[in-house]
Amino acid sequence: MSALTNLTIAQAGAGLSKGEFTARELTDDYLSAMEAARGLNAYIEETPERAQMMADASDARRTAGNAVGALDGIPLAIKDLFCTEGALSTAGSHILDGFRPAYESTVTQNLWDAGAVMLGKANMDEFAMGSANITSYYGPTLNPWKARSGDNAGKDLVPGGSSGGSASAVAARIAAGATGTDTGGSIRQPGAFCGIVGLKPTYGRCSRWGVIAFASSLDQAGPLARTVEDSALMLEGMVSYDPKDSTSVDLPVPNYAAALTGDIRGLRVGVPAEYRIDGTPSEIETLWQQGVHWLRDAGAEIVDISLPHTKYALPAYYIVAPAEASSNLARYDGMRYGLRVDGEDLAETYERTRAEGFGHEVKRRVMIGTYVLSAGYYDAYYLKAQRVRTRIADDFRAAWDSCDVILTPTTPNAAFALGEKQDDPIAMYLNDIFTVPASMAGLPAISLPAGLSGDGLPLGLHLIAPPFGEETLLRAAGVLESAAGFTAQP
Ligand code: GLN
Repeated sequence: MSALTNLTIAQAGAGLSKGEFTARELTDDYLSAMEAARGLNAYIEETPERAQMMADASDARRTAGNAVGALDGIPLAIKDLFCTEGALSTAGSHILDGFRPAYESTVTQNLWDAGAVMLGKANMDEFAMGSANITSYYGPTLNPWKARSGDNAGKDLVPGGSSGGSASAVAARIAAGATGTDTGGSIRQPGAFCGIVGLKPTYGRCSRWGVIAFASSLDQAGPLARTVEDSALMLEGMVSYDPKDSTSVDLPVPNYAAALTGDIRGLRVGVPAEYRIDGTPSEIETLWQQGVHWLRDAGAEIVDISLPHTKYALPAYYIVAPAEASSNLARYDGMRYGLRVDGEDLAETYERTRAEGFGHEVKRRVMIGTYVLSAGYYDAYYLKAQRVRTRIADDFRAAWDSCDVILTPTTPNAAFALGEKQDDPIAMYLNDIFTVPASMAGLPAISLPAGLSGDGLPLGLHLIAPPFGEETLLRAAGVLESAAGFTAQP
């Protein structure tokens, strides 16, 4: 690992403006690091030539005195769910074989307009369905961390999912930052497993245009980065109002980094009783308590709160998300792009294409989704899940009367071994127990590395804020980050 790949985005930006190194040098260091770390399988496709071209363009802008901002010349990994013009965009699925979009997603376009450099497309769970990055057609991504003791000592660990390639790349220093998407936890959970920061913005804050859809009422793009400050810088580069996404919100884009004042005196931090779940390891509980102490020491006021419908969030999510997925994935029919497996007639061509093109987990979700939307079961499942979703959102709305942010653990466990939980979908789904409620309510939330498990693996703390409370979220996260002083590396 070179010294340059070890710099945060903020540090690299400062080095670039002072002329200590060029964007091309920084990019070339990342490209060699990527080559050396191919064993992680963090990228589906590397785009070295494009990266070098973008880096050279950045250097030319800087020389001419036209550097755009904090992201100019910063090399990023892009989750393969984002459509990138001319570059493979597969959503980790066989069914999108060879798909090279003719257009660029709004979020990635915003990043390129801000001067960022694309290193490649990051591996991910197929169509963002998963919590371990094991459902990708392109094979699993590995977590750069290893347990130093315990049952999993020395074993290959999962990076979390679905943005597992993004998280692994940032943690392994083969990307300075990465884009992710979060439908039920897919930015925050891999962030926690890989010891980095993962931020899911408010639903509607980042445009979904050009992001391959999983569950449209939940999907939201966000950054994965090594520090809270880097997350703020990336978020600012990603967010925009986009008329091409009808759920995009027309609000000014704040200077998020300016929110990191370190001052949270008087901030009311809610601690929800319902997140104390049987079977959660004591080290997670202890870290949560530690987080409460850190915030209190910094002048925050700690408030006990109740979110009574928390336990229904996960089951309701696993109705709503598959329902929307079954509808969104109906478009993959082998006719217009991606894989086609010819049959005797049109119907058989559809069947064969979808049978071969989709993996097990995607098929499971399409079947669950089709079932809960079917005439006989719509009221019993889908409608009921939507009602539960409203209750969950109401719980949070009531909570904001007494607190400004909510603190919880990010995950009920540290990263697990490759192969573990693989045959047990319920155990896998439980990974998102703490992240799903904020998704169901469309709220912004962040995970940051706050400590190590007894076996030496990163553990995350999770903050949730009211809609468009990203600045409060970042400010509180910044304080936790300083208090935790997490400097461990894989
Ligand atoms: N793990 C969850 C799922 O499999 C969340 C995925 C996501 O946020 N994209 O649905």
